[in-house]
Amino acid sequence: MTIELSLQAPSPAGLIWRVTRNESPAGDAEREEILAEPGFGQYFTDHMVDLCWSEKGGWHRPRVQPYGPIPLDPAAAVLHYSQEIFEGLKAYRHDDGSVWTFRPDQNAARLQRSARRLALPELPTDLFIESIKQLIAVDAQWVPSNPEESLYLRPFMFAKEAFLGVRAAKKVGYYLIASPAGAYFPGGVQPVNIWLSTEYARAGHGGTGAAKTGGNYASSLLPQAEAYEKGCQQVLFLDGEYIEELGGMNLVLVKKDGTLVTPASDSILAGITLASILQLAKDRGLAVEQRKVSINEWRDGAASGDVVGAFACGTAAVVVPIGKLMGEEFEIVHEGPESSELAMSLREELTGIQYGRVEDRHGWMLRLDA
Ligand SMILES: *Cc1c(COP(=O)(O)O)cnc(C)c1O
Repeated sequence: MTIELSLQAPSPAGLIWRVTRNESPAGDAEREEILAEPGFGQYFTDHMVDLCWSEKGGWHRPRVQPYGPIPLDPAAAVLHYSQEIFEGLKAYRHDDGSVWTFRPDQNAARLQRSARRLALPELPTDLFIESIKQLIAVDAQWVPSNPEESLYLRPFMFAKEAFLGVRAAKKVGYYLIASPAGAYFPGGVQPVNIWLSTEYARAGHGGTGAAKTGGNYASSLLPQAEAYEKGCQQVLFLDGEYIEELGGMNLVLVKKDGTLVTPASDSILAGITLASILQLAKDRGLAVEQRKVSINEWRDGAASGDVVGAFACGTAAVVVPIGKLMGEEFEIVHEGPESSELAMSLREELTGIQYGRVEDRHGWMLRLDA
């Protein structure tokens, strides 16, 4: 292995990054083949970031190293008590070849909030952003240039300490891996069907619903499987009679007059896509309501024509119109162009900003390769 010091300046936190190049990276032809049809989450770039934290030493030993297995003691706390959090964001290639990401400060802040809830150490925002720049510095050629494609960035942190006692771990690892992502809807955006789960909940008050943590996903897998059986692609979770969100995406109702209504709850995950879409809607002079929304409000609104459509949103799929919400004994159907018009136009504007086709008037984009 050749070891070289990064050519970049020491990180703002004063840590020196050690960069170990992958000696057998994917060849140009292999990478090109992968980038021609990346799918989602199946292929990974040649390198990863690895940072350690200990109670005594704080954050230390920032490294970029070849992508590969993480050695883990069988008693590592994460394997037993799920002390784990993650993030998801994307790197976009603009037409001039430059590489950008979208609102990484928001992901950093959310990782800090998740860390607090899971009793993990908070990673400073400058180190979070530096970790992304360091990975892009060695793996930039993995950022696809096809339209609607991106390099999905997956930062995550977990309890590494080998100890079976139940308490917050004193040894933690932070990692960043990256995976090229194809267009979420290769044949053009299609409305999805959603299953309303009344048997299972995703989170409860005072629980971990507002943290991006693996446990929330683990508990969504069984209801997700139920949704597939019913012919649906995603699950909508409730808190009693009130709408929460999907397993990994936030939900928005669209009213006849263009008002967007989205649930407010302390047990849903504050999506950055959601916040950005709501901002773009406000910029257009549309009203935005963040409040409790009951399932009956949606059902009655759809019946009366007051609610014309609904969409889900999140980093991976951006914005997805909902064609149908199916439950045990009922169905809400949104069809016709008017049901997805506003969702699609907001989607176009947001992806326009992300891919550098639309002016970034809120200063959301950060260049990664310069
Ligand atoms: C990540 C996530 C979202 C979407 O958040 P974005 O920042 O828009 O990607 C929504 N719900 C859950 C449960 C999530 O984990």
